[in-house]
Formats: sequence, C-alpha cells, structure tokens
Amino acid sequence: MENGGAGNNYEGELNSKVTIKGILSLLMESIEGGGEHGDGKRKRVISLGMGDPSAYSCFHPPDVAQHAVVETLQSDMFNGYSPTVGLPQTRRAIAEYLSKDLPYKLSSDDVFVTSGCTQAIDVALALLACPGANILLPRPGFPIYELCASFRHLEVRHFDLLPERGWEVDLEGVESLADHNTVAMVIINPGNPCGNVYSQHHLRKIAETAQKLRILVIADEVYGHLAFGDTPFVPMGRYGSISPVLTLGSLSKRWIVPGWRLGWFVTTDPSGMFRKPKVVERIKKYFDILGGPATFMQAAVPRILEQTEASFFKKTINILKHNSDACYSRIKDIPCLSCLQKPSGSMAMMVKINLSLLEDIRDDIDFCFKLAREESVIILPGLAVGLKDWLRITFAVEPSSLEEAMGRIKSFCLKHTKPNLNI
Ligand SMILES: *Cc1c(COP(=O)(O)O)cnc(C)c1O
Repeated sequence: MENGGAGNNYEGELNSKVTIKGILSLLMESIEGGGEHGDGKRKRVISLGMGDPSAYSCFHPPDVAQHAVVETLQSDMFNGYSPTVGLPQTRRAIAEYLSKDLPYKLSSDDVFVTSGCTQAIDVALALLACPGANILLPRPGFPIYELCASFRHLEVRHFDLLPERGWEVDLEGVESLADHNTVAMVIINPGNPCGNVYSQHHLRKIAETAQKLRILVIADEVYGHLAFGDTPFVPMGRYGSISPVLTLGSLSKRWIVPGWRLGWFVTTDPSGMFRKPKVVERIKKYFDILGGPATFMQAAVPRILEQTEASFFKKTINILKHNSDACYSRIKDIPCLSCLQKPSGSMAMMVKINLSLLEDIRDDIDFCFKLAREESVIILPGLAVGLKDWLRITFAVEPSSLEEAMGRIKSFCLKHTKPNLNI
C-alpha cells in the first residue's frame, strides 16, 4: 500500500476515471435521497442518460432473433464449448454480413466473436498495448476506451471532434499528437455521443491520415446502419486498403439486444497485415483467455443476421429519426441550450449549455444534479464524455417519455434563467 511506485500512480489514475454508469447512479441516488422536494410529490423518473432502449416497449427485438435463440438453446446441440475465437458458422455469417458493404470479401478468419462490442474494445487495446505505446482517442468519446487503456497502461492522447464541422475529426490535431509510439486512432461512427455520421470523403481522409502516420484505425461501428439523416452509413473498412482497420461491432444496438452480449472484432485489412501467422497466433491466444459468448447465442447469429426483416430496421430508424428531430426542435426552443446540427445517427446527441444565461448553475454537473432533484430527469453531464459544460442526451426512449422529459427540461431552464433575461 505504501510503496508509491508506478503501479500506484496508475491506480490513482484509475480511481479518478469517471464512468457513465457511476455518474448516472449518483444522479439516481440524488433523486431518491431528495424525497420531499417542491410540492412533496416526486415526478416519475425519466432517464435520457443511458443508451439502453430495450427498456422501452417500442424497441422490441425482432421475433426472428428471439426464435433463433430459443431454437439453438433447445436443440441441445450447443451446450458445449465453442472454439474460443467463435463458432465457424458464426464467424462466416458475420464476415458475410459485413462484406455486403465492402469492396472486398472478408473471410471467416478475419472475424473473432466477442461478448459485445465492449469486449472487442478490450481485445483491441490489449493487443496493441506495449511499453511506451500511446493511442489517440476522440473527445468527446466513449469512456470505456479510457478505462480500458488505463488498465493496460496504454497512454491516451485526445484529439478533438469539431462541433462546427459536424463533429468531424480534427485531423491536423491527430497529426500533431501522433509520434512513433502511436499505435492507433479510434473513431466511433455513427457517433456516440455526438449523433453524427461521417461522409465517405471524411472517412477516406481519416484513412489517409492514418496511412501517413503509419497507425491503425479502430472503427467502433456498434451503431452501424443506425443512420437517419442525409449521410448514409459507410463502414471504415471500405478504406482498409489505405490503412488497416479493426472493425468493432455487436448486435446490441441495431438489434436492440444489449443483454445478449454478442459482438465482433474484425480485421478489415485487405493488405493482410493481420494475417501474418505471428499476429494471428497472438490474437488467438488472447481469445483463449476470454472463452467467448454463450455457444447457443453464437449459433443463433447466422439466422439473426440473415433473416431479420428490413421492416424491423426501418421501424427503429423511424423512431430514432422522429425522436431526434423532436429533441432538436425542443432544444432550439430553450434559450440556454444549443445544438449545432440535427443528429443523423446513433442514439445520442451533444447539447451545449450557455451558462451565462443561467442564474445559479455552476457547470454541467450542477445542471444535471439540480435537474435530477427538481424534475426527476436524468441526463449525462458532458464531462463524463470529455466535454465540460455540455450535456449528452440519449433519445432512444419512448416518444411520449421524451416529450415529457423535454418539457421538464424547458421549465427547469426557464426557472433558472437570469430574471432580466426572462421574457
Ligand atoms: C454501447 C456501445 C458499446 C458497447 O456495446 P456492447 O455491445 O453493449 O458491449 C461500444 N461502443 C460504443 C460507442 C457504444 O455506444
């Protein structure tokens, strides 16, 4: 305990890491603790904090997916271990699913099956970490990357996403951050927390920058195909021949089954850098430690990927589009909040707080705690994703709950607006 070596520094660093779950549970506790606020009756709690739409009946997973899992479970054929890298049919089905959007074909050997996209993140960072190495992460971003990097003693450097440019990567920033110890840069597309979708042009520029810096691109495409604006979703792997790409994804968001824990780590790299025997051996060994998701779940994947109907995806997209439009227009109507552009993908958006218009709100954290206590609405302070004095709003909720929550946010903001500014 007292030998203040390097290990301890890392521990301190780890303890200071904010997690989304940590902040959200503090917000929830503050609602529960502050029982007799206002007129004594507490409003129903609405959370726009966490991205788990499965709690809402409008986001029901497709029947075919449920049937597929029941069938593989009851077949009695999948009670044993699977190969640690995944069942062959599962790897093949994921390779075919992803190849549909690529100019080349992935093989089963490119695909490794993980427990959700979270584990794919861990795999990527574990494989890349080595003494002295650093990784470039987006700000704002997804804090699991920082958490994972700190366990791996992998140095993190942040590049900015530019709100005035549709949250594009600040590529000049990337170039100035990188050095010969930089192993990779991470992009999340469609974006969490920003709700943006990158154009082909920008993805190509990212690939060219990575090529110039001789680094990998880790593409978190857990929201793949959840695009509802003018820009279609294009996978980063399309530019895998410019710079090798590791594609991370899962069933969690597109199929709305985050609890099924089925994801993938895919080497989207037509030049074959990841097919070198030594590299493959290393990846396989790491998967031996993980063991992989439940075998019957893996066995259901081919049917889930091949037979989910287009109408299911369409329905999700329609709700997300409706909700994000509603959210955007309600925010435009609140003077102290601003959102530069309509979200066009994923399930979240970033909203800026103009603190100078507010009377007694110190910062984003203060905003969120007071909002929770006074209005029983939970939203995530921007600090949790790296942007102080912003908010992250998750709009993948029941439309009526969203309406109600936006109404409460508006009255909260008006109540705290400086009196001379009240109209
Ligand atoms: C939800 C999410 C993940 C984790 O996905 P799981 O499949 O639930 O593990 C990873 N990255 C981002 C950006 C996410 O929003």
